[in-house]
Amino acid sequence: MDRRLFLGGLGLAGVGCGRRVRTVPPVGLRLAPVRAEVERIFRVTVCVRPFRAAGPRMDVEKVGEKTVIHHYGHGGSGWSLSWGAGALAVEKAMGLGERNVAVVGCGAMGLTAAILLQRAGARVTIYAKERPPEVRSARATGSWTPDSRVALANAVSPDFPALWERMTRASFKMYESYLGLAGNPVEWTERYQVSGGAPARAAEGGLEFAKYVDRIRDITPRAREMAAGTHPFGKREVRQSAGLTFNIASYSRMLMNDFFVAGGRMETVEFHKPGDFARVAEKVVVNATGYGARALWKDESIVPVRGQIAWLIPQAEVNYGVMYNGVFVLGRRDGIVVQGVGAGEMEGYNVADETPDRVAAEAAVRTVAEVFQS
Ligand SMILES: Cc1cc2nc3c(=O)[nH]c(=O)nc-3n(C[C@H](O)[C@H](O)[C@H](O)COP(=O)(O)OP(=O)(O)OC[C@H]3O[C@@H](n4cnc5c(N)ncnc54)[C@H](O)[C@@H]3O)c2cc1C
Repeated sequence: MDRRLFLGGLGLAGVGCGRRVRTVPPVGLRLAPVRAEVERIFRVTVCVRPFRAAGPRMDVEKVGEKTVIHHYGHGGSGWSLSWGAGALAVEKAMGLGERNVAVVGCGAMGLTAAILLQRAGARVTIYAKERPPEVRSARATGSWTPDSRVALANAVSPDFPALWERMTRASFKMYESYLGLAGNPVEWTERYQVSGGAPARAAEGGLEFAKYVDRIRDITPRAREMAAGTHPFGKREVRQSAGLTFNIASYSRMLMNDFFVAGGRMETVEFHKPGDFARVAEKVVVNATGYGARALWKDESIVPVRGQIAWLIPQAEVNYGVMYNGVFVLGRRDGIVVQGVGAGEMEGYNVADETPDRVAAEAAVRTVAEVFQS
């Protein structure tokens, strides 16, 4: 199990040892178990994270008559960083003095940038080949993971860590305003890291992914070790914390509605080369094409990082996440997502194949069953 990935994904990296760990008094936690049965898998989805070693592309480029603000390449952190990264793109767009702005892309990055542009006073049209639920963003785990595969530690510019912090804090603040709403688009839920199982596979060719969680300790819940007998996972060691969960079905729908209610327009269009942006009426274009930018912009700095999810029928009472033996399971309102993460952040690295692997999906669900047998 890659403990750092899990804790990092929960915003907990580095808090599992030393003075920061507190022991919870025995309170006898009871959890409704996940019905981890392969018969309950209702779909298997795959998508690729648009990873760039140097971090997301955020520069501005002139293409013919158009000014293009790049806004892609957010790796495994797109949902988490979306509002903060979007705010930077909007600053650049609005600084150009144009009030009609095009956004190309309708995933996590395009939708949030479009809404922020509207709030800043722009009239916005989204042009995209797909919209939710067809976009890759709809196939994400749905956790607050702002530094998950966002860059390589040694490939970023010196100002990137501070920029990341700015994006992360701005996003986190915005997410606070999505809590407690009907349909729970965003909510805090508990996370448990459970020891045991087979040793994690060694990640070959391991790269040093950038980790910045130390910069946001003040907004990161602390991990607690749970005393034996206070949790339902038998003799295993358990660490508990909490994380933001994005219930992407209702959250995306809310974002789409917000965009349309504010007068947004949307057109279904596919662009094949940068020069095709000449087809849009607006002079300023935010390029939020995610992994699609690799082909569209011939940007081979984007590395695909494949991730697969087996979806189990949701259980209203299962509203927590568990990491065990290289598998992460997260109870969401729109499904219980089960994801193999055994190779840590190298899992799926440089794999562009988006074909679902049913055998791997069932194996991951069986691992989840094992942890609830205790
Ligand atoms: C398995 C998995 C789990 C993940 N889990 C999390 C998580 O828990 N938390 C988190 O924060 N992030 C997570 N991510 C990362 C996150 O999903 C991505 O960073 C995010 O989806 C990127 O969003 P995007 O809007 O840039 O791209 P996309 O969602 O791919 O959207 C791109 C948009 O551009 C359009 N487009 C692309 N090319 C063209 C073209 N040529 N012409 C016209 N339109 C085009 C597409 O149709 C689409 O509308 C995960 C990713 C994966 C794969």
